[in-house]
Amino acid sequence: MQAEVRMLTSCDFLELAVPGVRGLSPYQPGKPETELRRELGLQRVIKLASNENPLGPSPRALAAATDALRGCHRYPDGNAFELKRALATSLGCQPEQLTVGNGSNDVLELVARAFAGPGRSVVYSRHAFAVYPLVTQAVGAQGIEAEPNGPEHFQPYGHDLAAMARLIRPDTRVVYLANPNNPTGTWLGSSELEAFLRELPTHVIVVVDEAYAEYVTQSDYPDARRWLDALPNLVVTRTFSKAYGLAGFRVGYAISHPEVADLLNRVRQPFNLNLPAQAAAAAALGDHEHLEHSRALNSRELQRLGAALSAMGLEVLPSAANFLCVDFHQRAMPIFDGLLQRGVIVRPVANYGLPEHLRITVGTVEENDQCLYALREVLG
Ligand SMILES: *Cc1c(COP(=O)(O)O)cnc(C)c1O
Repeated sequence: MQAEVRMLTSCDFLELAVPGVRGLSPYQPGKPETELRRELGLQRVIKLASNENPLGPSPRALAAATDALRGCHRYPDGNAFELKRALATSLGCQPEQLTVGNGSNDVLELVARAFAGPGRSVVYSRHAFAVYPLVTQAVGAQGIEAEPNGPEHFQPYGHDLAAMARLIRPDTRVVYLANPNNPTGTWLGSSELEAFLRELPTHVIVVVDEAYAEYVTQSDYPDARRWLDALPNLVVTRTFSKAYGLAGFRVGYAISHPEVADLLNRVRQPFNLNLPAQAAAAAALGDHEHLEHSRALNSRELQRLGAALSAMGLEVLPSAANFLCVDFHQRAMPIFDGLLQRGVIVRPVANYGLPEHLRITVGTVEENDQCLYALREVLG
C-alpha cells in the first residue's frame, strides 16, 4: 500500500481527489503587511486590503482572551455556551437558533455541507463573495451564477434578485446573498429583499450574509433577522471579523430556525471555536463604546475617502460597508503594484471578474490620507 502511494505522480493525486475539489482554486487572501515589509524593506506599510477594523480589537476582548489563555490545556466549550448566551441576549433570539463558526466562512460552508452536494444546485450572483462558489464546488454541488446588475444600475454590479429568482430549479437547495456585498459594497433594500425571500420555494435555504451589517447606515437597509420568524428557510450570518475587529480570532455565527441550526451543528466540528476566541467574542459584544467608535469613524471616513476619490475623477461604486470599490476604467494591476511600491496594500478584484477595479478598505484618517497621496502619485 505504502509503496504504491509513493509511486503516484502528482497528476494521479488530482485523479484521486473528489471531482468538486479537482477544479478548485484556493481563496486568495489580501497580502499580509509583514510580507510587503520583507519584500520591499519598507518601514511603514498600511493594509487596506481585507476590510478589517483599523482601530483594532476592543481592549475588553483582548483582556478576556488573555485571561482565557490560562485554561488552554483544556478543550474549549464545544457548544460555546457563554458566547451563545451573550449573542442570544444581544440579538434577541434563542441560543438554539445559533450556530457558531470558525469565522462566518465556516458557517457558510456548513450550510453547503448540510444542504447542497452532488445532484443539487446552489445559486449566487456574479461578483459576490468568493467563498460561495468555493464551498459549492467543494461539496460537489452545481454552482449557478446569476447575472448581476449592469454598470448603469444604481447598485452597479450588485445582486439582481429577479435574475437570481429565475435560476432557481427544483434541485436548488441553497441561495447565497451578501448584503452589503463584497467586493462591490452594494446593498439590497428592505422591500426588494423581502419580496424575494417571500417568493422563494420552501425547498431552498437562503443565506443572507450580513458580514458588514454593523457598519451600515442606510435607512432602507434591512436587518434580515426580522424575517426569521416568518421564513423558516432563512439563515442570517454575521461575523466578529469586521466591525468587531477580531478577524484573527475567527468567530462568526448563523441565526436560523432551531431545526436548521440543529442540522448545521451536526456537520460542525466539535471544537471549531477556540478558547480565547470564544472569550474575546463574548467580551466584544459588551463593548458598545468600541463598536460605536468604529462605526462612527467608518461612516465619516467612508464618506471622505469616497468624495476624495471622486474628486480625482475616479468612479466609485456606492458602498454601505467599510470599503470602496473603485473603477479605474483601465487594467487595475499596474495601479495596485504602484500602490504596493508606496507601502499601500489594497485589493485587486480581477478574481471577482472586476479586472479594472480595486477594493480599498476604509482605514484611519492617516491611513486614508496616505492611500490618497500614494494614489495621486501613481495616477500622475
Ligand atoms: C469578510 C466577509 C465575511 C467574513 O468572513 P469571516 O470568516 O467571518 O472572517 C463573510 N462574508 C463576506 C461577504 C465577507 O466580506
